[in-house]
Amino acid sequence: MKIIETIDKMQTEAEKIRLSGRRIGLVPTMGFLHEGHLSLIRNARESSDTVITSIFVNPTQFGPGEDYEDYPRDPERDIRMAEAAGSDIIFHPSAKEMYPEGYQTFVTVEKLTKVLCGLSRPQHFRGVTTVVIKLFNATKPHLAIFGQKDAQQALVIRRMVNDLNLDIEIKISPIIREPDGLAMSSRNTYLDATQRKNATVLYRSLILARQLIESGERSARRISDELVKIIAQTDGAEIDYVSMVDTAKLEPVQTLSGEILIAEAVRFGKTRLIDNIILTV
Ligand code: AMP
Repeated sequence: MKIIETIDKMQTEAEKIRLSGRRIGLVPTMGFLHEGHLSLIRNARESSDTVITSIFVNPTQFGPGEDYEDYPRDPERDIRMAEAAGSDIIFHPSAKEMYPEGYQTFVTVEKLTKVLCGLSRPQHFRGVTTVVIKLFNATKPHLAIFGQKDAQQALVIRRMVNDLNLDIEIKISPIIREPDGLAMSSRNTYLDATQRKNATVLYRSLILARQLIESGERSARRISDELVKIIAQTDGAEIDYVSMVDTAKLEPVQTLSGEILIAEAVRFGKTRLIDNIILTV
């Protein structure tokens, strides 16, 4: 297993791999790996010859007052876990390496980033698309894998790859959950015991939405009211958004039909959790 810390060395290595005819699969992460990340690495293992996992806590996707400094970091543990899951290379650049003095170039996807998480995190997706394209340029992947957990991010990246004609296959991997349904996230470590117990309301509310739809309900408004009710009744839960949108443009739907993304963001204290489900109605 190779650990590479500079863009220059990463590009040289990636070029060598490409010239040898091997297919490169990239799994971008911010580290503090959990089963969700490992499922992406295993997925990449199955569909490529060389798996590169990037570990980089990207400062440009955090807004002022967000948790960039506090974000959990444990690169040594990450390296062991990524290797065990089948990663061949870890790309672990510093913030200075990625954004040296004088850096001023950003890539922006316009409309898709203005809704859902974009409303409370206006600079977030600009940081995500910028770092992802930089990671693509460093690792030269044929394939990159992202998680459904960040549904809007996955869509924004697909849009960018299409719009900019990047010759990279994008795969989306399903959400991996704790046994009680909470979507795995590096940020779950911020939760105290009570918040951790109450945080299952995100998944419970999504299951309730599915049940309501299965029993014939088609009004987004009525379903959303029910979801908001059970989340608002939960101690410590503060809703950022609960939205029902189409999966192409992320526009709100009134009457459910076709493929629907139900997405939500809920805060417990300073911890902001997201979850979602895609249903075909
Ligand atoms: P992060 O380190 O949180 O930036 O996540 C890196 C990648 O892992 C992103 O593509 C996420 O969508 C994905 N990911 C994070 N949590 C999960 C999860 N619970 N299940 C599946 N994928 C996940």
